[in-house]
Amino acid sequence: MGALRERFWERPLAELTRPEWEALCDGCGRCCLHKMEDEDTGRIEETNVACRLLDCASATCRDYPNRKSFVPDCLRLTLKIVDRVPWLPSTCAYRRRAEGRSLPDWHYLLSGDREAVVRAGVSVAGRVVSEVDAGPLEHHVVEWDEEGDGGGQGGRDWHREAAE
Ligand code: SF4
Repeated sequence: MGALRERFWERPLAELTRPEWEALCDGCGRCCLHKMEDEDTGRIEETNVACRLLDCASATCRDYPNRKSFVPDCLRLTLKIVDRVPWLPSTCAYRRRAEGRSLPDWHYLLSGDREAVVRAGVSVAGRVVSEVDAGPLEHHVVEWDEEGDGGGQGGRDWHREAAE
């Protein structure tokens, strides 16, 4: 990871370097969960089923640099689309900054503690099942709380990526 400017997370997303963009992620893992969309209503149902590459215990991608090789439809969260992904959790650092909000106190860039996201109830670590073992998604519909009291939402296809 390249050099990060002091308090870079307070800058507009458009000004971030690629390493800074990557570093903004709190690692909650919520965007690595499957979701289902009702074709008729457009309603998005959340699940506790994780992408096969997610380590369910730690909520980290097992092979982030090469994830597209294993999960070709893993899409990239970029500056161009960050404000058009309605299911990003309200805690997501990218969403918050896109909306002009500050990072939450527990974010590791402020707290200096990577585990704070777990204690805040935001991380999916230990709370999800891999798609390899899950069976039908319909059996795993959940409602994740917002604003750090638990849960989250997401879809398997989205990951953070540098702004271009
Ligand atoms: S939801 Fe946002 S903060 Fe959480 S893992 Fe995904 S990109 Fe990172």
